[in-house]
Order: sequence, then structure tokens, then C-alpha cells
Amino acid sequence: ADTINKIAAGEVIIRPVSVIKELVENAIDAGATRVTVVIEAGGKNLMIVRDNGCGIAYNEVPLAFKRHATSKLISIDDLESIESLGFRGEALSSVSAVARVQVTTCNETDEVGSMSLFEGGTLINQRVCSYGKGTEMKVWDLFYNTPARRKHLEKDKKEEVLIRDLLEKLALSNPGVAFQVSSNGRSVLSTTGSGNMLDVVSILYGGEVAAKLIPIHFENTPMKLTGLIGDLTTMRSHRDDQIFFINGRYVKNPKLSQALDGAYEGYIMRHQHPFGIIFLELPGRMLDVNIHPAKTEIKILNESLVMLLFRQGIRETLRHANLVVDI
Ligand code: ADP
Ligand code: MG
Repeated sequence: ADTINKIAAGEVIIRPVSVIKELVENAIDAGATRVTVVIEAGGKNLMIVRDNGCGIAYNEVPLAFKRHATSKLISIDDLESIESLGFRGEALSSVSAVARVQVTTCNETDEVGSMSLFEGGTLINQRVCSYGKGTEMKVWDLFYNTPARRKHLEKDKKEEVLIRDLLEKLALSNPGVAFQVSSNGRSVLSTTGSGNMLDVVSILYGGEVAAKLIPIHFENTPMKLTGLIGDLTTMRSHRDDQIFFINGRYVKNPKLSQALDGAYEGYIMRHQHPFGIIFLELPGRMLDVNIHPAKTEIKILNESLVMLLFRQGIRETLRHANLVVDI
């Protein structure tokens, strides 16, 4: 069983950012409005994710770390729409299989909280302790029992950048959650949890850029688009600031980038790329669900229709803002 867990872990947990992704998504699933992330040495030495979510009952803690244990509803809809976050029931067991994990948590109904220690996937010890409502997951000695994987990690700085990139995307798609992120004792991201995505954009890109962005409100069955795009004065020479979410999940998709550039056709130069933080909503049946949820690639079925509608939505947004004129 230990080997199976380690192999399963290998698919989900590749580097520190994989741990952070699973823990933060769990915190969001738990209804947290505040999420604190602490990392040291790019997460290689220490990762802490603290939330004010629903907490875990004393008796449920061991269960939460079992493989395929999930308290989350899995309906056919969930499976078809990848809207539910996380790889169902595998994250905590996978993390604890390749690291040491200490969980401190308290839910609404238990009188006191608990502190539990897992090593190599096994519960070493659990005791009661006082703790406010919520959960703290502390992970250290990542890959202590899989040295080959540890050796393949990048320099601290690079692992930290991967974590920051991920958390910035999660902050954008969860503007109602206040994120506090520190690395080696220094604050690297702090959002307010106001619920307004534009506030997160101001924090990440500055108020000057934020003030120039145009909101998108577009619906053309089966697609809905929201988010923000840049005007003609906020062009970039790269595509790093073209960020897409499909049904709330951050995705990388070069075709969407091309379609975004394409919507500005006639108004920008070849080397220019518009700014865009764009949320697409699509019915689950138009997406391939067999793609591993830990990955950011996602296959869109009916891709040409989606790209056509997407471009149309962006072009219409630009036209409404009087930035382009189509005859
Ligand atoms: P999944 O998220 O797919 O359910 P995980 O292995 O990530 O699987 O988590 C297992 C279970 O542990 C969750 O279903 C949830 O009940 C519980 N859990 C994990 N993290 C938290 C948290 N931060 N707050 C409350 N419950 C949590
Ligand atoms: Mg999870």
C-alpha cells in the first residue's frame, strides 16, 4: 500500500507548488475567506496553509488522509464539468505519502480542536488541542522518502516563483478570499478579499493598468465571458498577462491567446499582445474530463466554435467601448 500511495503521489505531487495547489484548493472548498500561505526555501523546507474554513472533526482527520476519501459531493455533473476543485480524495493522502504533515484544526461542532502528525502516509499521533475554527496544514521534509524526486527540484527562487504564479491566479479567480502569502518571512502577496476582481488586479499590476481595463459581459449560448481586457494603450510585447479561466479553473491555452490577439486585428501590431484576464463558462459536455485536474491543459471539444464565439465576445466588448469600429 505504501508503494501504491507513493506512485499515486508521484502523479499529483511533483514539486512544492503541487502541494500548495491542493492545500489552497481544499481551503477554498472549505469555505475559507482568509487563506495564509507561508513558505520557506521555495517550499522545500516548509509550507504552511492556514484557513478559516469549516475545519475537520477530530474523528474525520484520519479519514481525510485515506486514499480516495472525500467529503465532497461527486455528482455526474461534477465529473462532467470539472467545476469541482482538486483531484477527488487523493491530495492529502498523496502529500502525506511524500512528506511530513501536521494538521491543526477545529470545526464548528467539536468543543476543542486537534493536532495530528502524519509521516509517510501514516498517522503517527493525534491529540486534542485548542484551536480557532479552521485548519492549518504544515508540510515539511517534502520528498524525504523519495530522494530522486527531491533531487529534481529547481532552485528555491524558481520554486517560489511557481508558487507565487499559482497563488496570483487563485487570488484572481477567488477575489472574495483574502490571501496573505509570505516567503522566507517576507510578504509577497496580500489581497483584501473584497470580492472585486479589479482590486486583485490593482494589487498585481498597479492601479494605473487596472484603471484602463475594460470589463467583459458577453453571453452567446453556450458560452459566457466575463473578466477584463486591456485598451489599446496597455499592449504588451509578451503574452504573460493573458490569463484564462474555464469554469473557474486556470488554464493554459495558446488558441485562446491567438483568438484574443485576433480580436484586436487591425488595431495592434504583430508583436503586440493585449492584456486580458478572462473567465469562460462552458457546459461540461464541451470539455474533456479525462485530463488530470492537477494539470493546467484542458481539451476543449468543439474548439473552433468556442474560439469563434470567444473572438466575437472580445471584439464586441471592444466595439462597445468604442475602441474598434467594424463596418
Ligand atoms: P478532496 O479535496 O478531493 O475531497 P483531499 O485529499 O484534498 O480530497 O481532502 C480530503 C478531505 O479532507 C476533503 O474532502 C475534506 O473533507 C477534508 N479537508 C481537507 N482540507 C481541508 C480544509 N482545509 N478544511 C476542511 N476540510 C478539509
Ligand atoms: Mg482536495
